[in-house]
Amino acid sequence: MSDTDRKLTNIDVPSEFRDRIATIDDGGKRKWVYPRKPKGRFYDARSWFAYLLLAIMFSGPFITINGRPLLLLNFIERKFIIFGMAFWPQDSYIFVLATLTFIVGIILFTVIFGRLFCGWACPQTIFMEMVFRKIEYLIDGNANRQRKLKAQTWNAEKIFKRGLKHAIFWGLSFIIGNTLLAYIIGKDALFLIITEPVAVHFAGFSFMLIFTNLFYFIYAFFREQVCTQVCPYGRLQSVLLDDKSIVVAYDFVRGEKRGNPQKAAGETLGDCIDCNQCVEVCPTGIDIRNGTQLECVNCTACIDACDTVMDKLKRPRGLIRYDSFGGIENGEKLGLTFRNTGYTAILGLLISLFFILLITRTDVETTILRSYGTLFQAAGDNHFTNLYTVKVLNKTFDEMPIRLELLSPQGTLTMVGGDLNIKGQDRTEGVFFVDLSGDLLKGTETKVQVAVYANDHLVETVKTSFMGPRN
Ligand code: SF4
Ligand code: SF4
Repeated sequence: MSDTDRKLTNIDVPSEFRDRIATIDDGGKRKWVYPRKPKGRFYDARSWFAYLLLAIMFSGPFITINGRPLLLLNFIERKFIIFGMAFWPQDSYIFVLATLTFIVGIILFTVIFGRLFCGWACPQTIFMEMVFRKIEYLIDGNANRQRKLKAQTWNAEKIFKRGLKHAIFWGLSFIIGNTLLAYIIGKDALFLIITEPVAVHFAGFSFMLIFTNLFYFIYAFFREQVCTQVCPYGRLQSVLLDDKSIVVAYDFVRGEKRGNPQKAAGETLGDCIDCNQCVEVCPTGIDIRNGTQLECVNCTACIDACDTVMDKLKRPRGLIRYDSFGGIENGEKLGLTFRNTGYTAILGLLISLFFILLITRTDVETTILRSYGTLFQAAGDNHFTNLYTVKVLNKTFDEMPIRLELLSPQGTLTMVGGDLNIKGQDRTEGVFFVDLSGDLLKGTETKVQVAVYANDHLVETVKTSFMGPRN
C-alpha cells in the first residue's frame, strides 16, 4: 500500500483497486455489473427528483411561449431560441460568456459539492438508473435473478424476457432520440419527419435512427462505462476535489477495523461488519470503503444500503454519508477556502457581465458600409454625396419597419426605394445616399453617425465614414 493510499483512506486496505478498472477483468474483458436494487430515503428522493427532471426534459421542446418553443438549439440552421427569445450567430459573444460562466460554475460547484450533479441530475444517471435499470428490475428481477438469467440456456423464458426488455429499451431510446431531435429542429419539423414519407426527409430520418440506436447502445450495453471511461467531467474529478469537498464517503474512523462481530475473537471492531451490501448495490462496481474513486458517481445507493444495515444493528446511520475527507478524519466543518472564494468572485463577475450583455442586447443589428467601389460624388453647390449599403437583422419574431436618420454631421440621408421593412427573424438590405456640405467635411474621411429606428424607437446608433475630396 502506497503512502498516498494510506493518506486517502487512512486504513489498511489492498490498493490493487487503483491499478485496474472495476468493470474489466484480468483478461481485459468487460465484467458486467449486476447492482442490487437500492432501497431507502436517498433512492426515493432521487427517484422523485428524476421524475421531475424527466418531465421538464420531455416537455421542453413542446412548450411554447407565444407560439415559439421554450428551447430550440438548431445548430444546423444556426437558430437558437432560449426561453422564447431568439438568438443569432451574431450573439455568439453571449454564448461564449454563458459557456464560460457554466464551466466556472461547474468547477466551483464540484470543488464544494463533489459529484452531486452526477448522482442527482446527470441525464446519463437519470436514464440509466431511474428508467432503464428500473425496467430491467421489473422484467429480469433483482441482481441474483439477472445473473441466473444470463447463465441459463436460451429457453422460452429467456427469449421472452430478452425480447421484451430490448424492445422496450429500443422504444424508449426512440422517444429520447426524438426528443433530442425536437430540441434541435423543433417539434413541427420533427412531426413532418414522422408523418411524411422517408424520402422527403431522408437526412432527418437518418439522424432519428442514429440518435435512437446510439441511446439504445448506451443504455442496453455501454452503461456505466460512459461515466467511468468517457465522461470528461468524471475525468476532471481528480483535479477538482480536495479533502474539503463533500462526497459520498465511508467513515473509516468509525467503521474500522471492519469485520464480522461473530468472528471477532476478542478483537475490538469498528461499525463496519464487512457485509458487502454497499458494494452489491453499486452501479459502477466499486467498493466505497476504498476511499473516493473516479468511478463513484455519488449515486447514494451505498448510503441507503449501509443505513439499512445500521438500522438492523441498531447503530447510528451515516457510516457511509455525504461528508468530506477532512470532516471524517478531523470532524472539520465545510468552510470557505481561498480557492472557493476566488472561484466565487470570478463566477459573480461572469454572471453580472452575462446579464448586462443580455439586458443591453439589441433587437436589431445593423451594418452600414460605403457601397463597394464607389467614391464621393459632387452634387453641386459645394455639396457631396456618398452611397451606402445597409444590412439589418431583425432578431425578434415580429415584422418591423426600419427608418434611418443622419445624426451627425448635419446633412440629409435619402433611402433608395423608401424605408425598409423586415419580417420577424429575417434580414434585409438597402441602399441610401448621404448628402453633406463641403464646409463640414474634415479632409477625405469624415465620421458620420446614423440613427436606426425600429417602430419609431431608436434601437441603434451606427458609425461610418464619409469620403470627400482632398482640401
Ligand atoms: S454496508 Fe456498511 S457495514 Fe456493510 S460493508 Fe458496507 S460499510 Fe460496512
Ligand atoms: S460508491 Fe456508492 S455512491 Fe459511488 S457509485 Fe457506488 S453506490 Fe454510488
